[in-house]
Amino acid sequence: MPFEKLQIIEPILRALKTEGYTKPTPIQEQSIPVILKHRDLLGCAQTGTGKTAAFAIPILQILHAEAAHDKGPKHIKSLILTPTRELAIQIAESFTAYGRHTGLKHTVVFGGVSQHAQTEALKKGVDILIATPGRLLDLMNQRFVHLQHIKIFVLDEADRMLDMGFINDVKRVIAKLPTKRQTLFFSATMAPEILKLANTILFEPVEVAVTPQSTTVDAIKQSLYYVAKSDKKDLLIHLLKDKSMDRALVFTRTKHGADKVTKELVKVGFKALAIHGNKSQNARQNALKDFKAGNTQVLVATDIAARGIDIDELSHVVNYELPNVPETYVHRIGRTGRAGASGIAISFCDAEEKGELKDILKLIGKPIPVVEGHPYPMSQAEIAMTVPKKDNRSFSHKKPSSHSPGHKSAGAPKGEKKKFWGKKFGS
Ligand code: AMP
Repeated sequence: MPFEKLQIIEPILRALKTEGYTKPTPIQEQSIPVILKHRDLLGCAQTGTGKTAAFAIPILQILHAEAAHDKGPKHIKSLILTPTRELAIQIAESFTAYGRHTGLKHTVVFGGVSQHAQTEALKKGVDILIATPGRLLDLMNQRFVHLQHIKIFVLDEADRMLDMGFINDVKRVIAKLPTKRQTLFFSATMAPEILKLANTILFEPVEVAVTPQSTTVDAIKQSLYYVAKSDKKDLLIHLLKDKSMDRALVFTRTKHGADKVTKELVKVGFKALAIHGNKSQNARQNALKDFKAGNTQVLVATDIAARGIDIDELSHVVNYELPNVPETYVHRIGRTGRAGASGIAISFCDAEEKGELKDILKLIGKPIPVVEGHPYPMSQAEIAMTVPKKDNRSFSHKKPSSHSPGHKSAGAPKGEKKKFWGKKFGS
């Protein structure tokens, strides 16, 4: 179905064309007509499904129609509340892209930076405000932001808001919104606490749900390397030398770990940068910009810093350390394989990560193909301790020669073999 069928106005259609979008994603197909009818929406969708455009396009269209009648001073008519600075910036970039021919103004406010530029932008007048909860409340208290003219309110990533402890801030913001409004509520998961919040702020919502997490994972080629903790660095360097790994996002569990891995990579000549919560907002944005521009080959990130990062053509995600919350694995590898594109996710697993691996396999409900014969295998004893019981493969410890007839499959550099729990990959 083309975008035209969703009754989208010409200035937005033109912008979508520039973006190279040919047809709506499922969440867009389901949500756009509902929002254009001014209905409340309860959307179950994660980042990567195209959910930003699913709300940004109809918001721009509704406000564009209103702007034609409303010639008075500008008021904020739509508020998008999102948990992290990175997401807020990305949403603002989407409004810039889709709204470039609408004449509507938007700005973004988030903490961790001086508020001056933000308050200057607000003073000039905006139609749409994208905000993280803390800074928004700050600016509301200082009377730089007034919410009494809000017509459409979006609560984005509600589950993250809850996880990150923002729920009271969110409730404080909601208390200041006009009761007569349209509300769009998005969350990747619908735990009872999320539904309770949704029930209190939505009026007869239309429910839309897309691609459960484990299905999203299907589009991504995953592989698993059993490797000793002390060899992870060398294995990563070995993999990065493989030419197809031109833009990799590497996940570590801790900020310290991110810095350490980055240092090791820089030491041997890779262009690598770390992003995590200890870095200033500017340092994080610059790192992201360099990575997006292709000037940096490797971005090493912690989960919070990388949340929602949206990079076109991200070829590889590497789990240098497995996350201890299995859902995080799905979120991490979802940074690649965006909007239907396929991506490659490589995971390292050492002897201490057996429990994490078991939980991940249980969540995704299928095995992750194991790469054998790589140059940094574990010892037999370690393997016996690490590999989950179901995996009764025999391991080959030979160092692959450059002439080895290795089966090249997704995620595995030349000369390395990949197995599905004992069966040869692809056989
Ligand atoms: P989101 O889930 O909003 O973070 O979007 C994920 C990615 O999909 C972003 O890079 C968008 O630019 C892209 N995207 C959104 N809608 C479409 C579409 N209809 N066609 C192609 N790409 C899209």
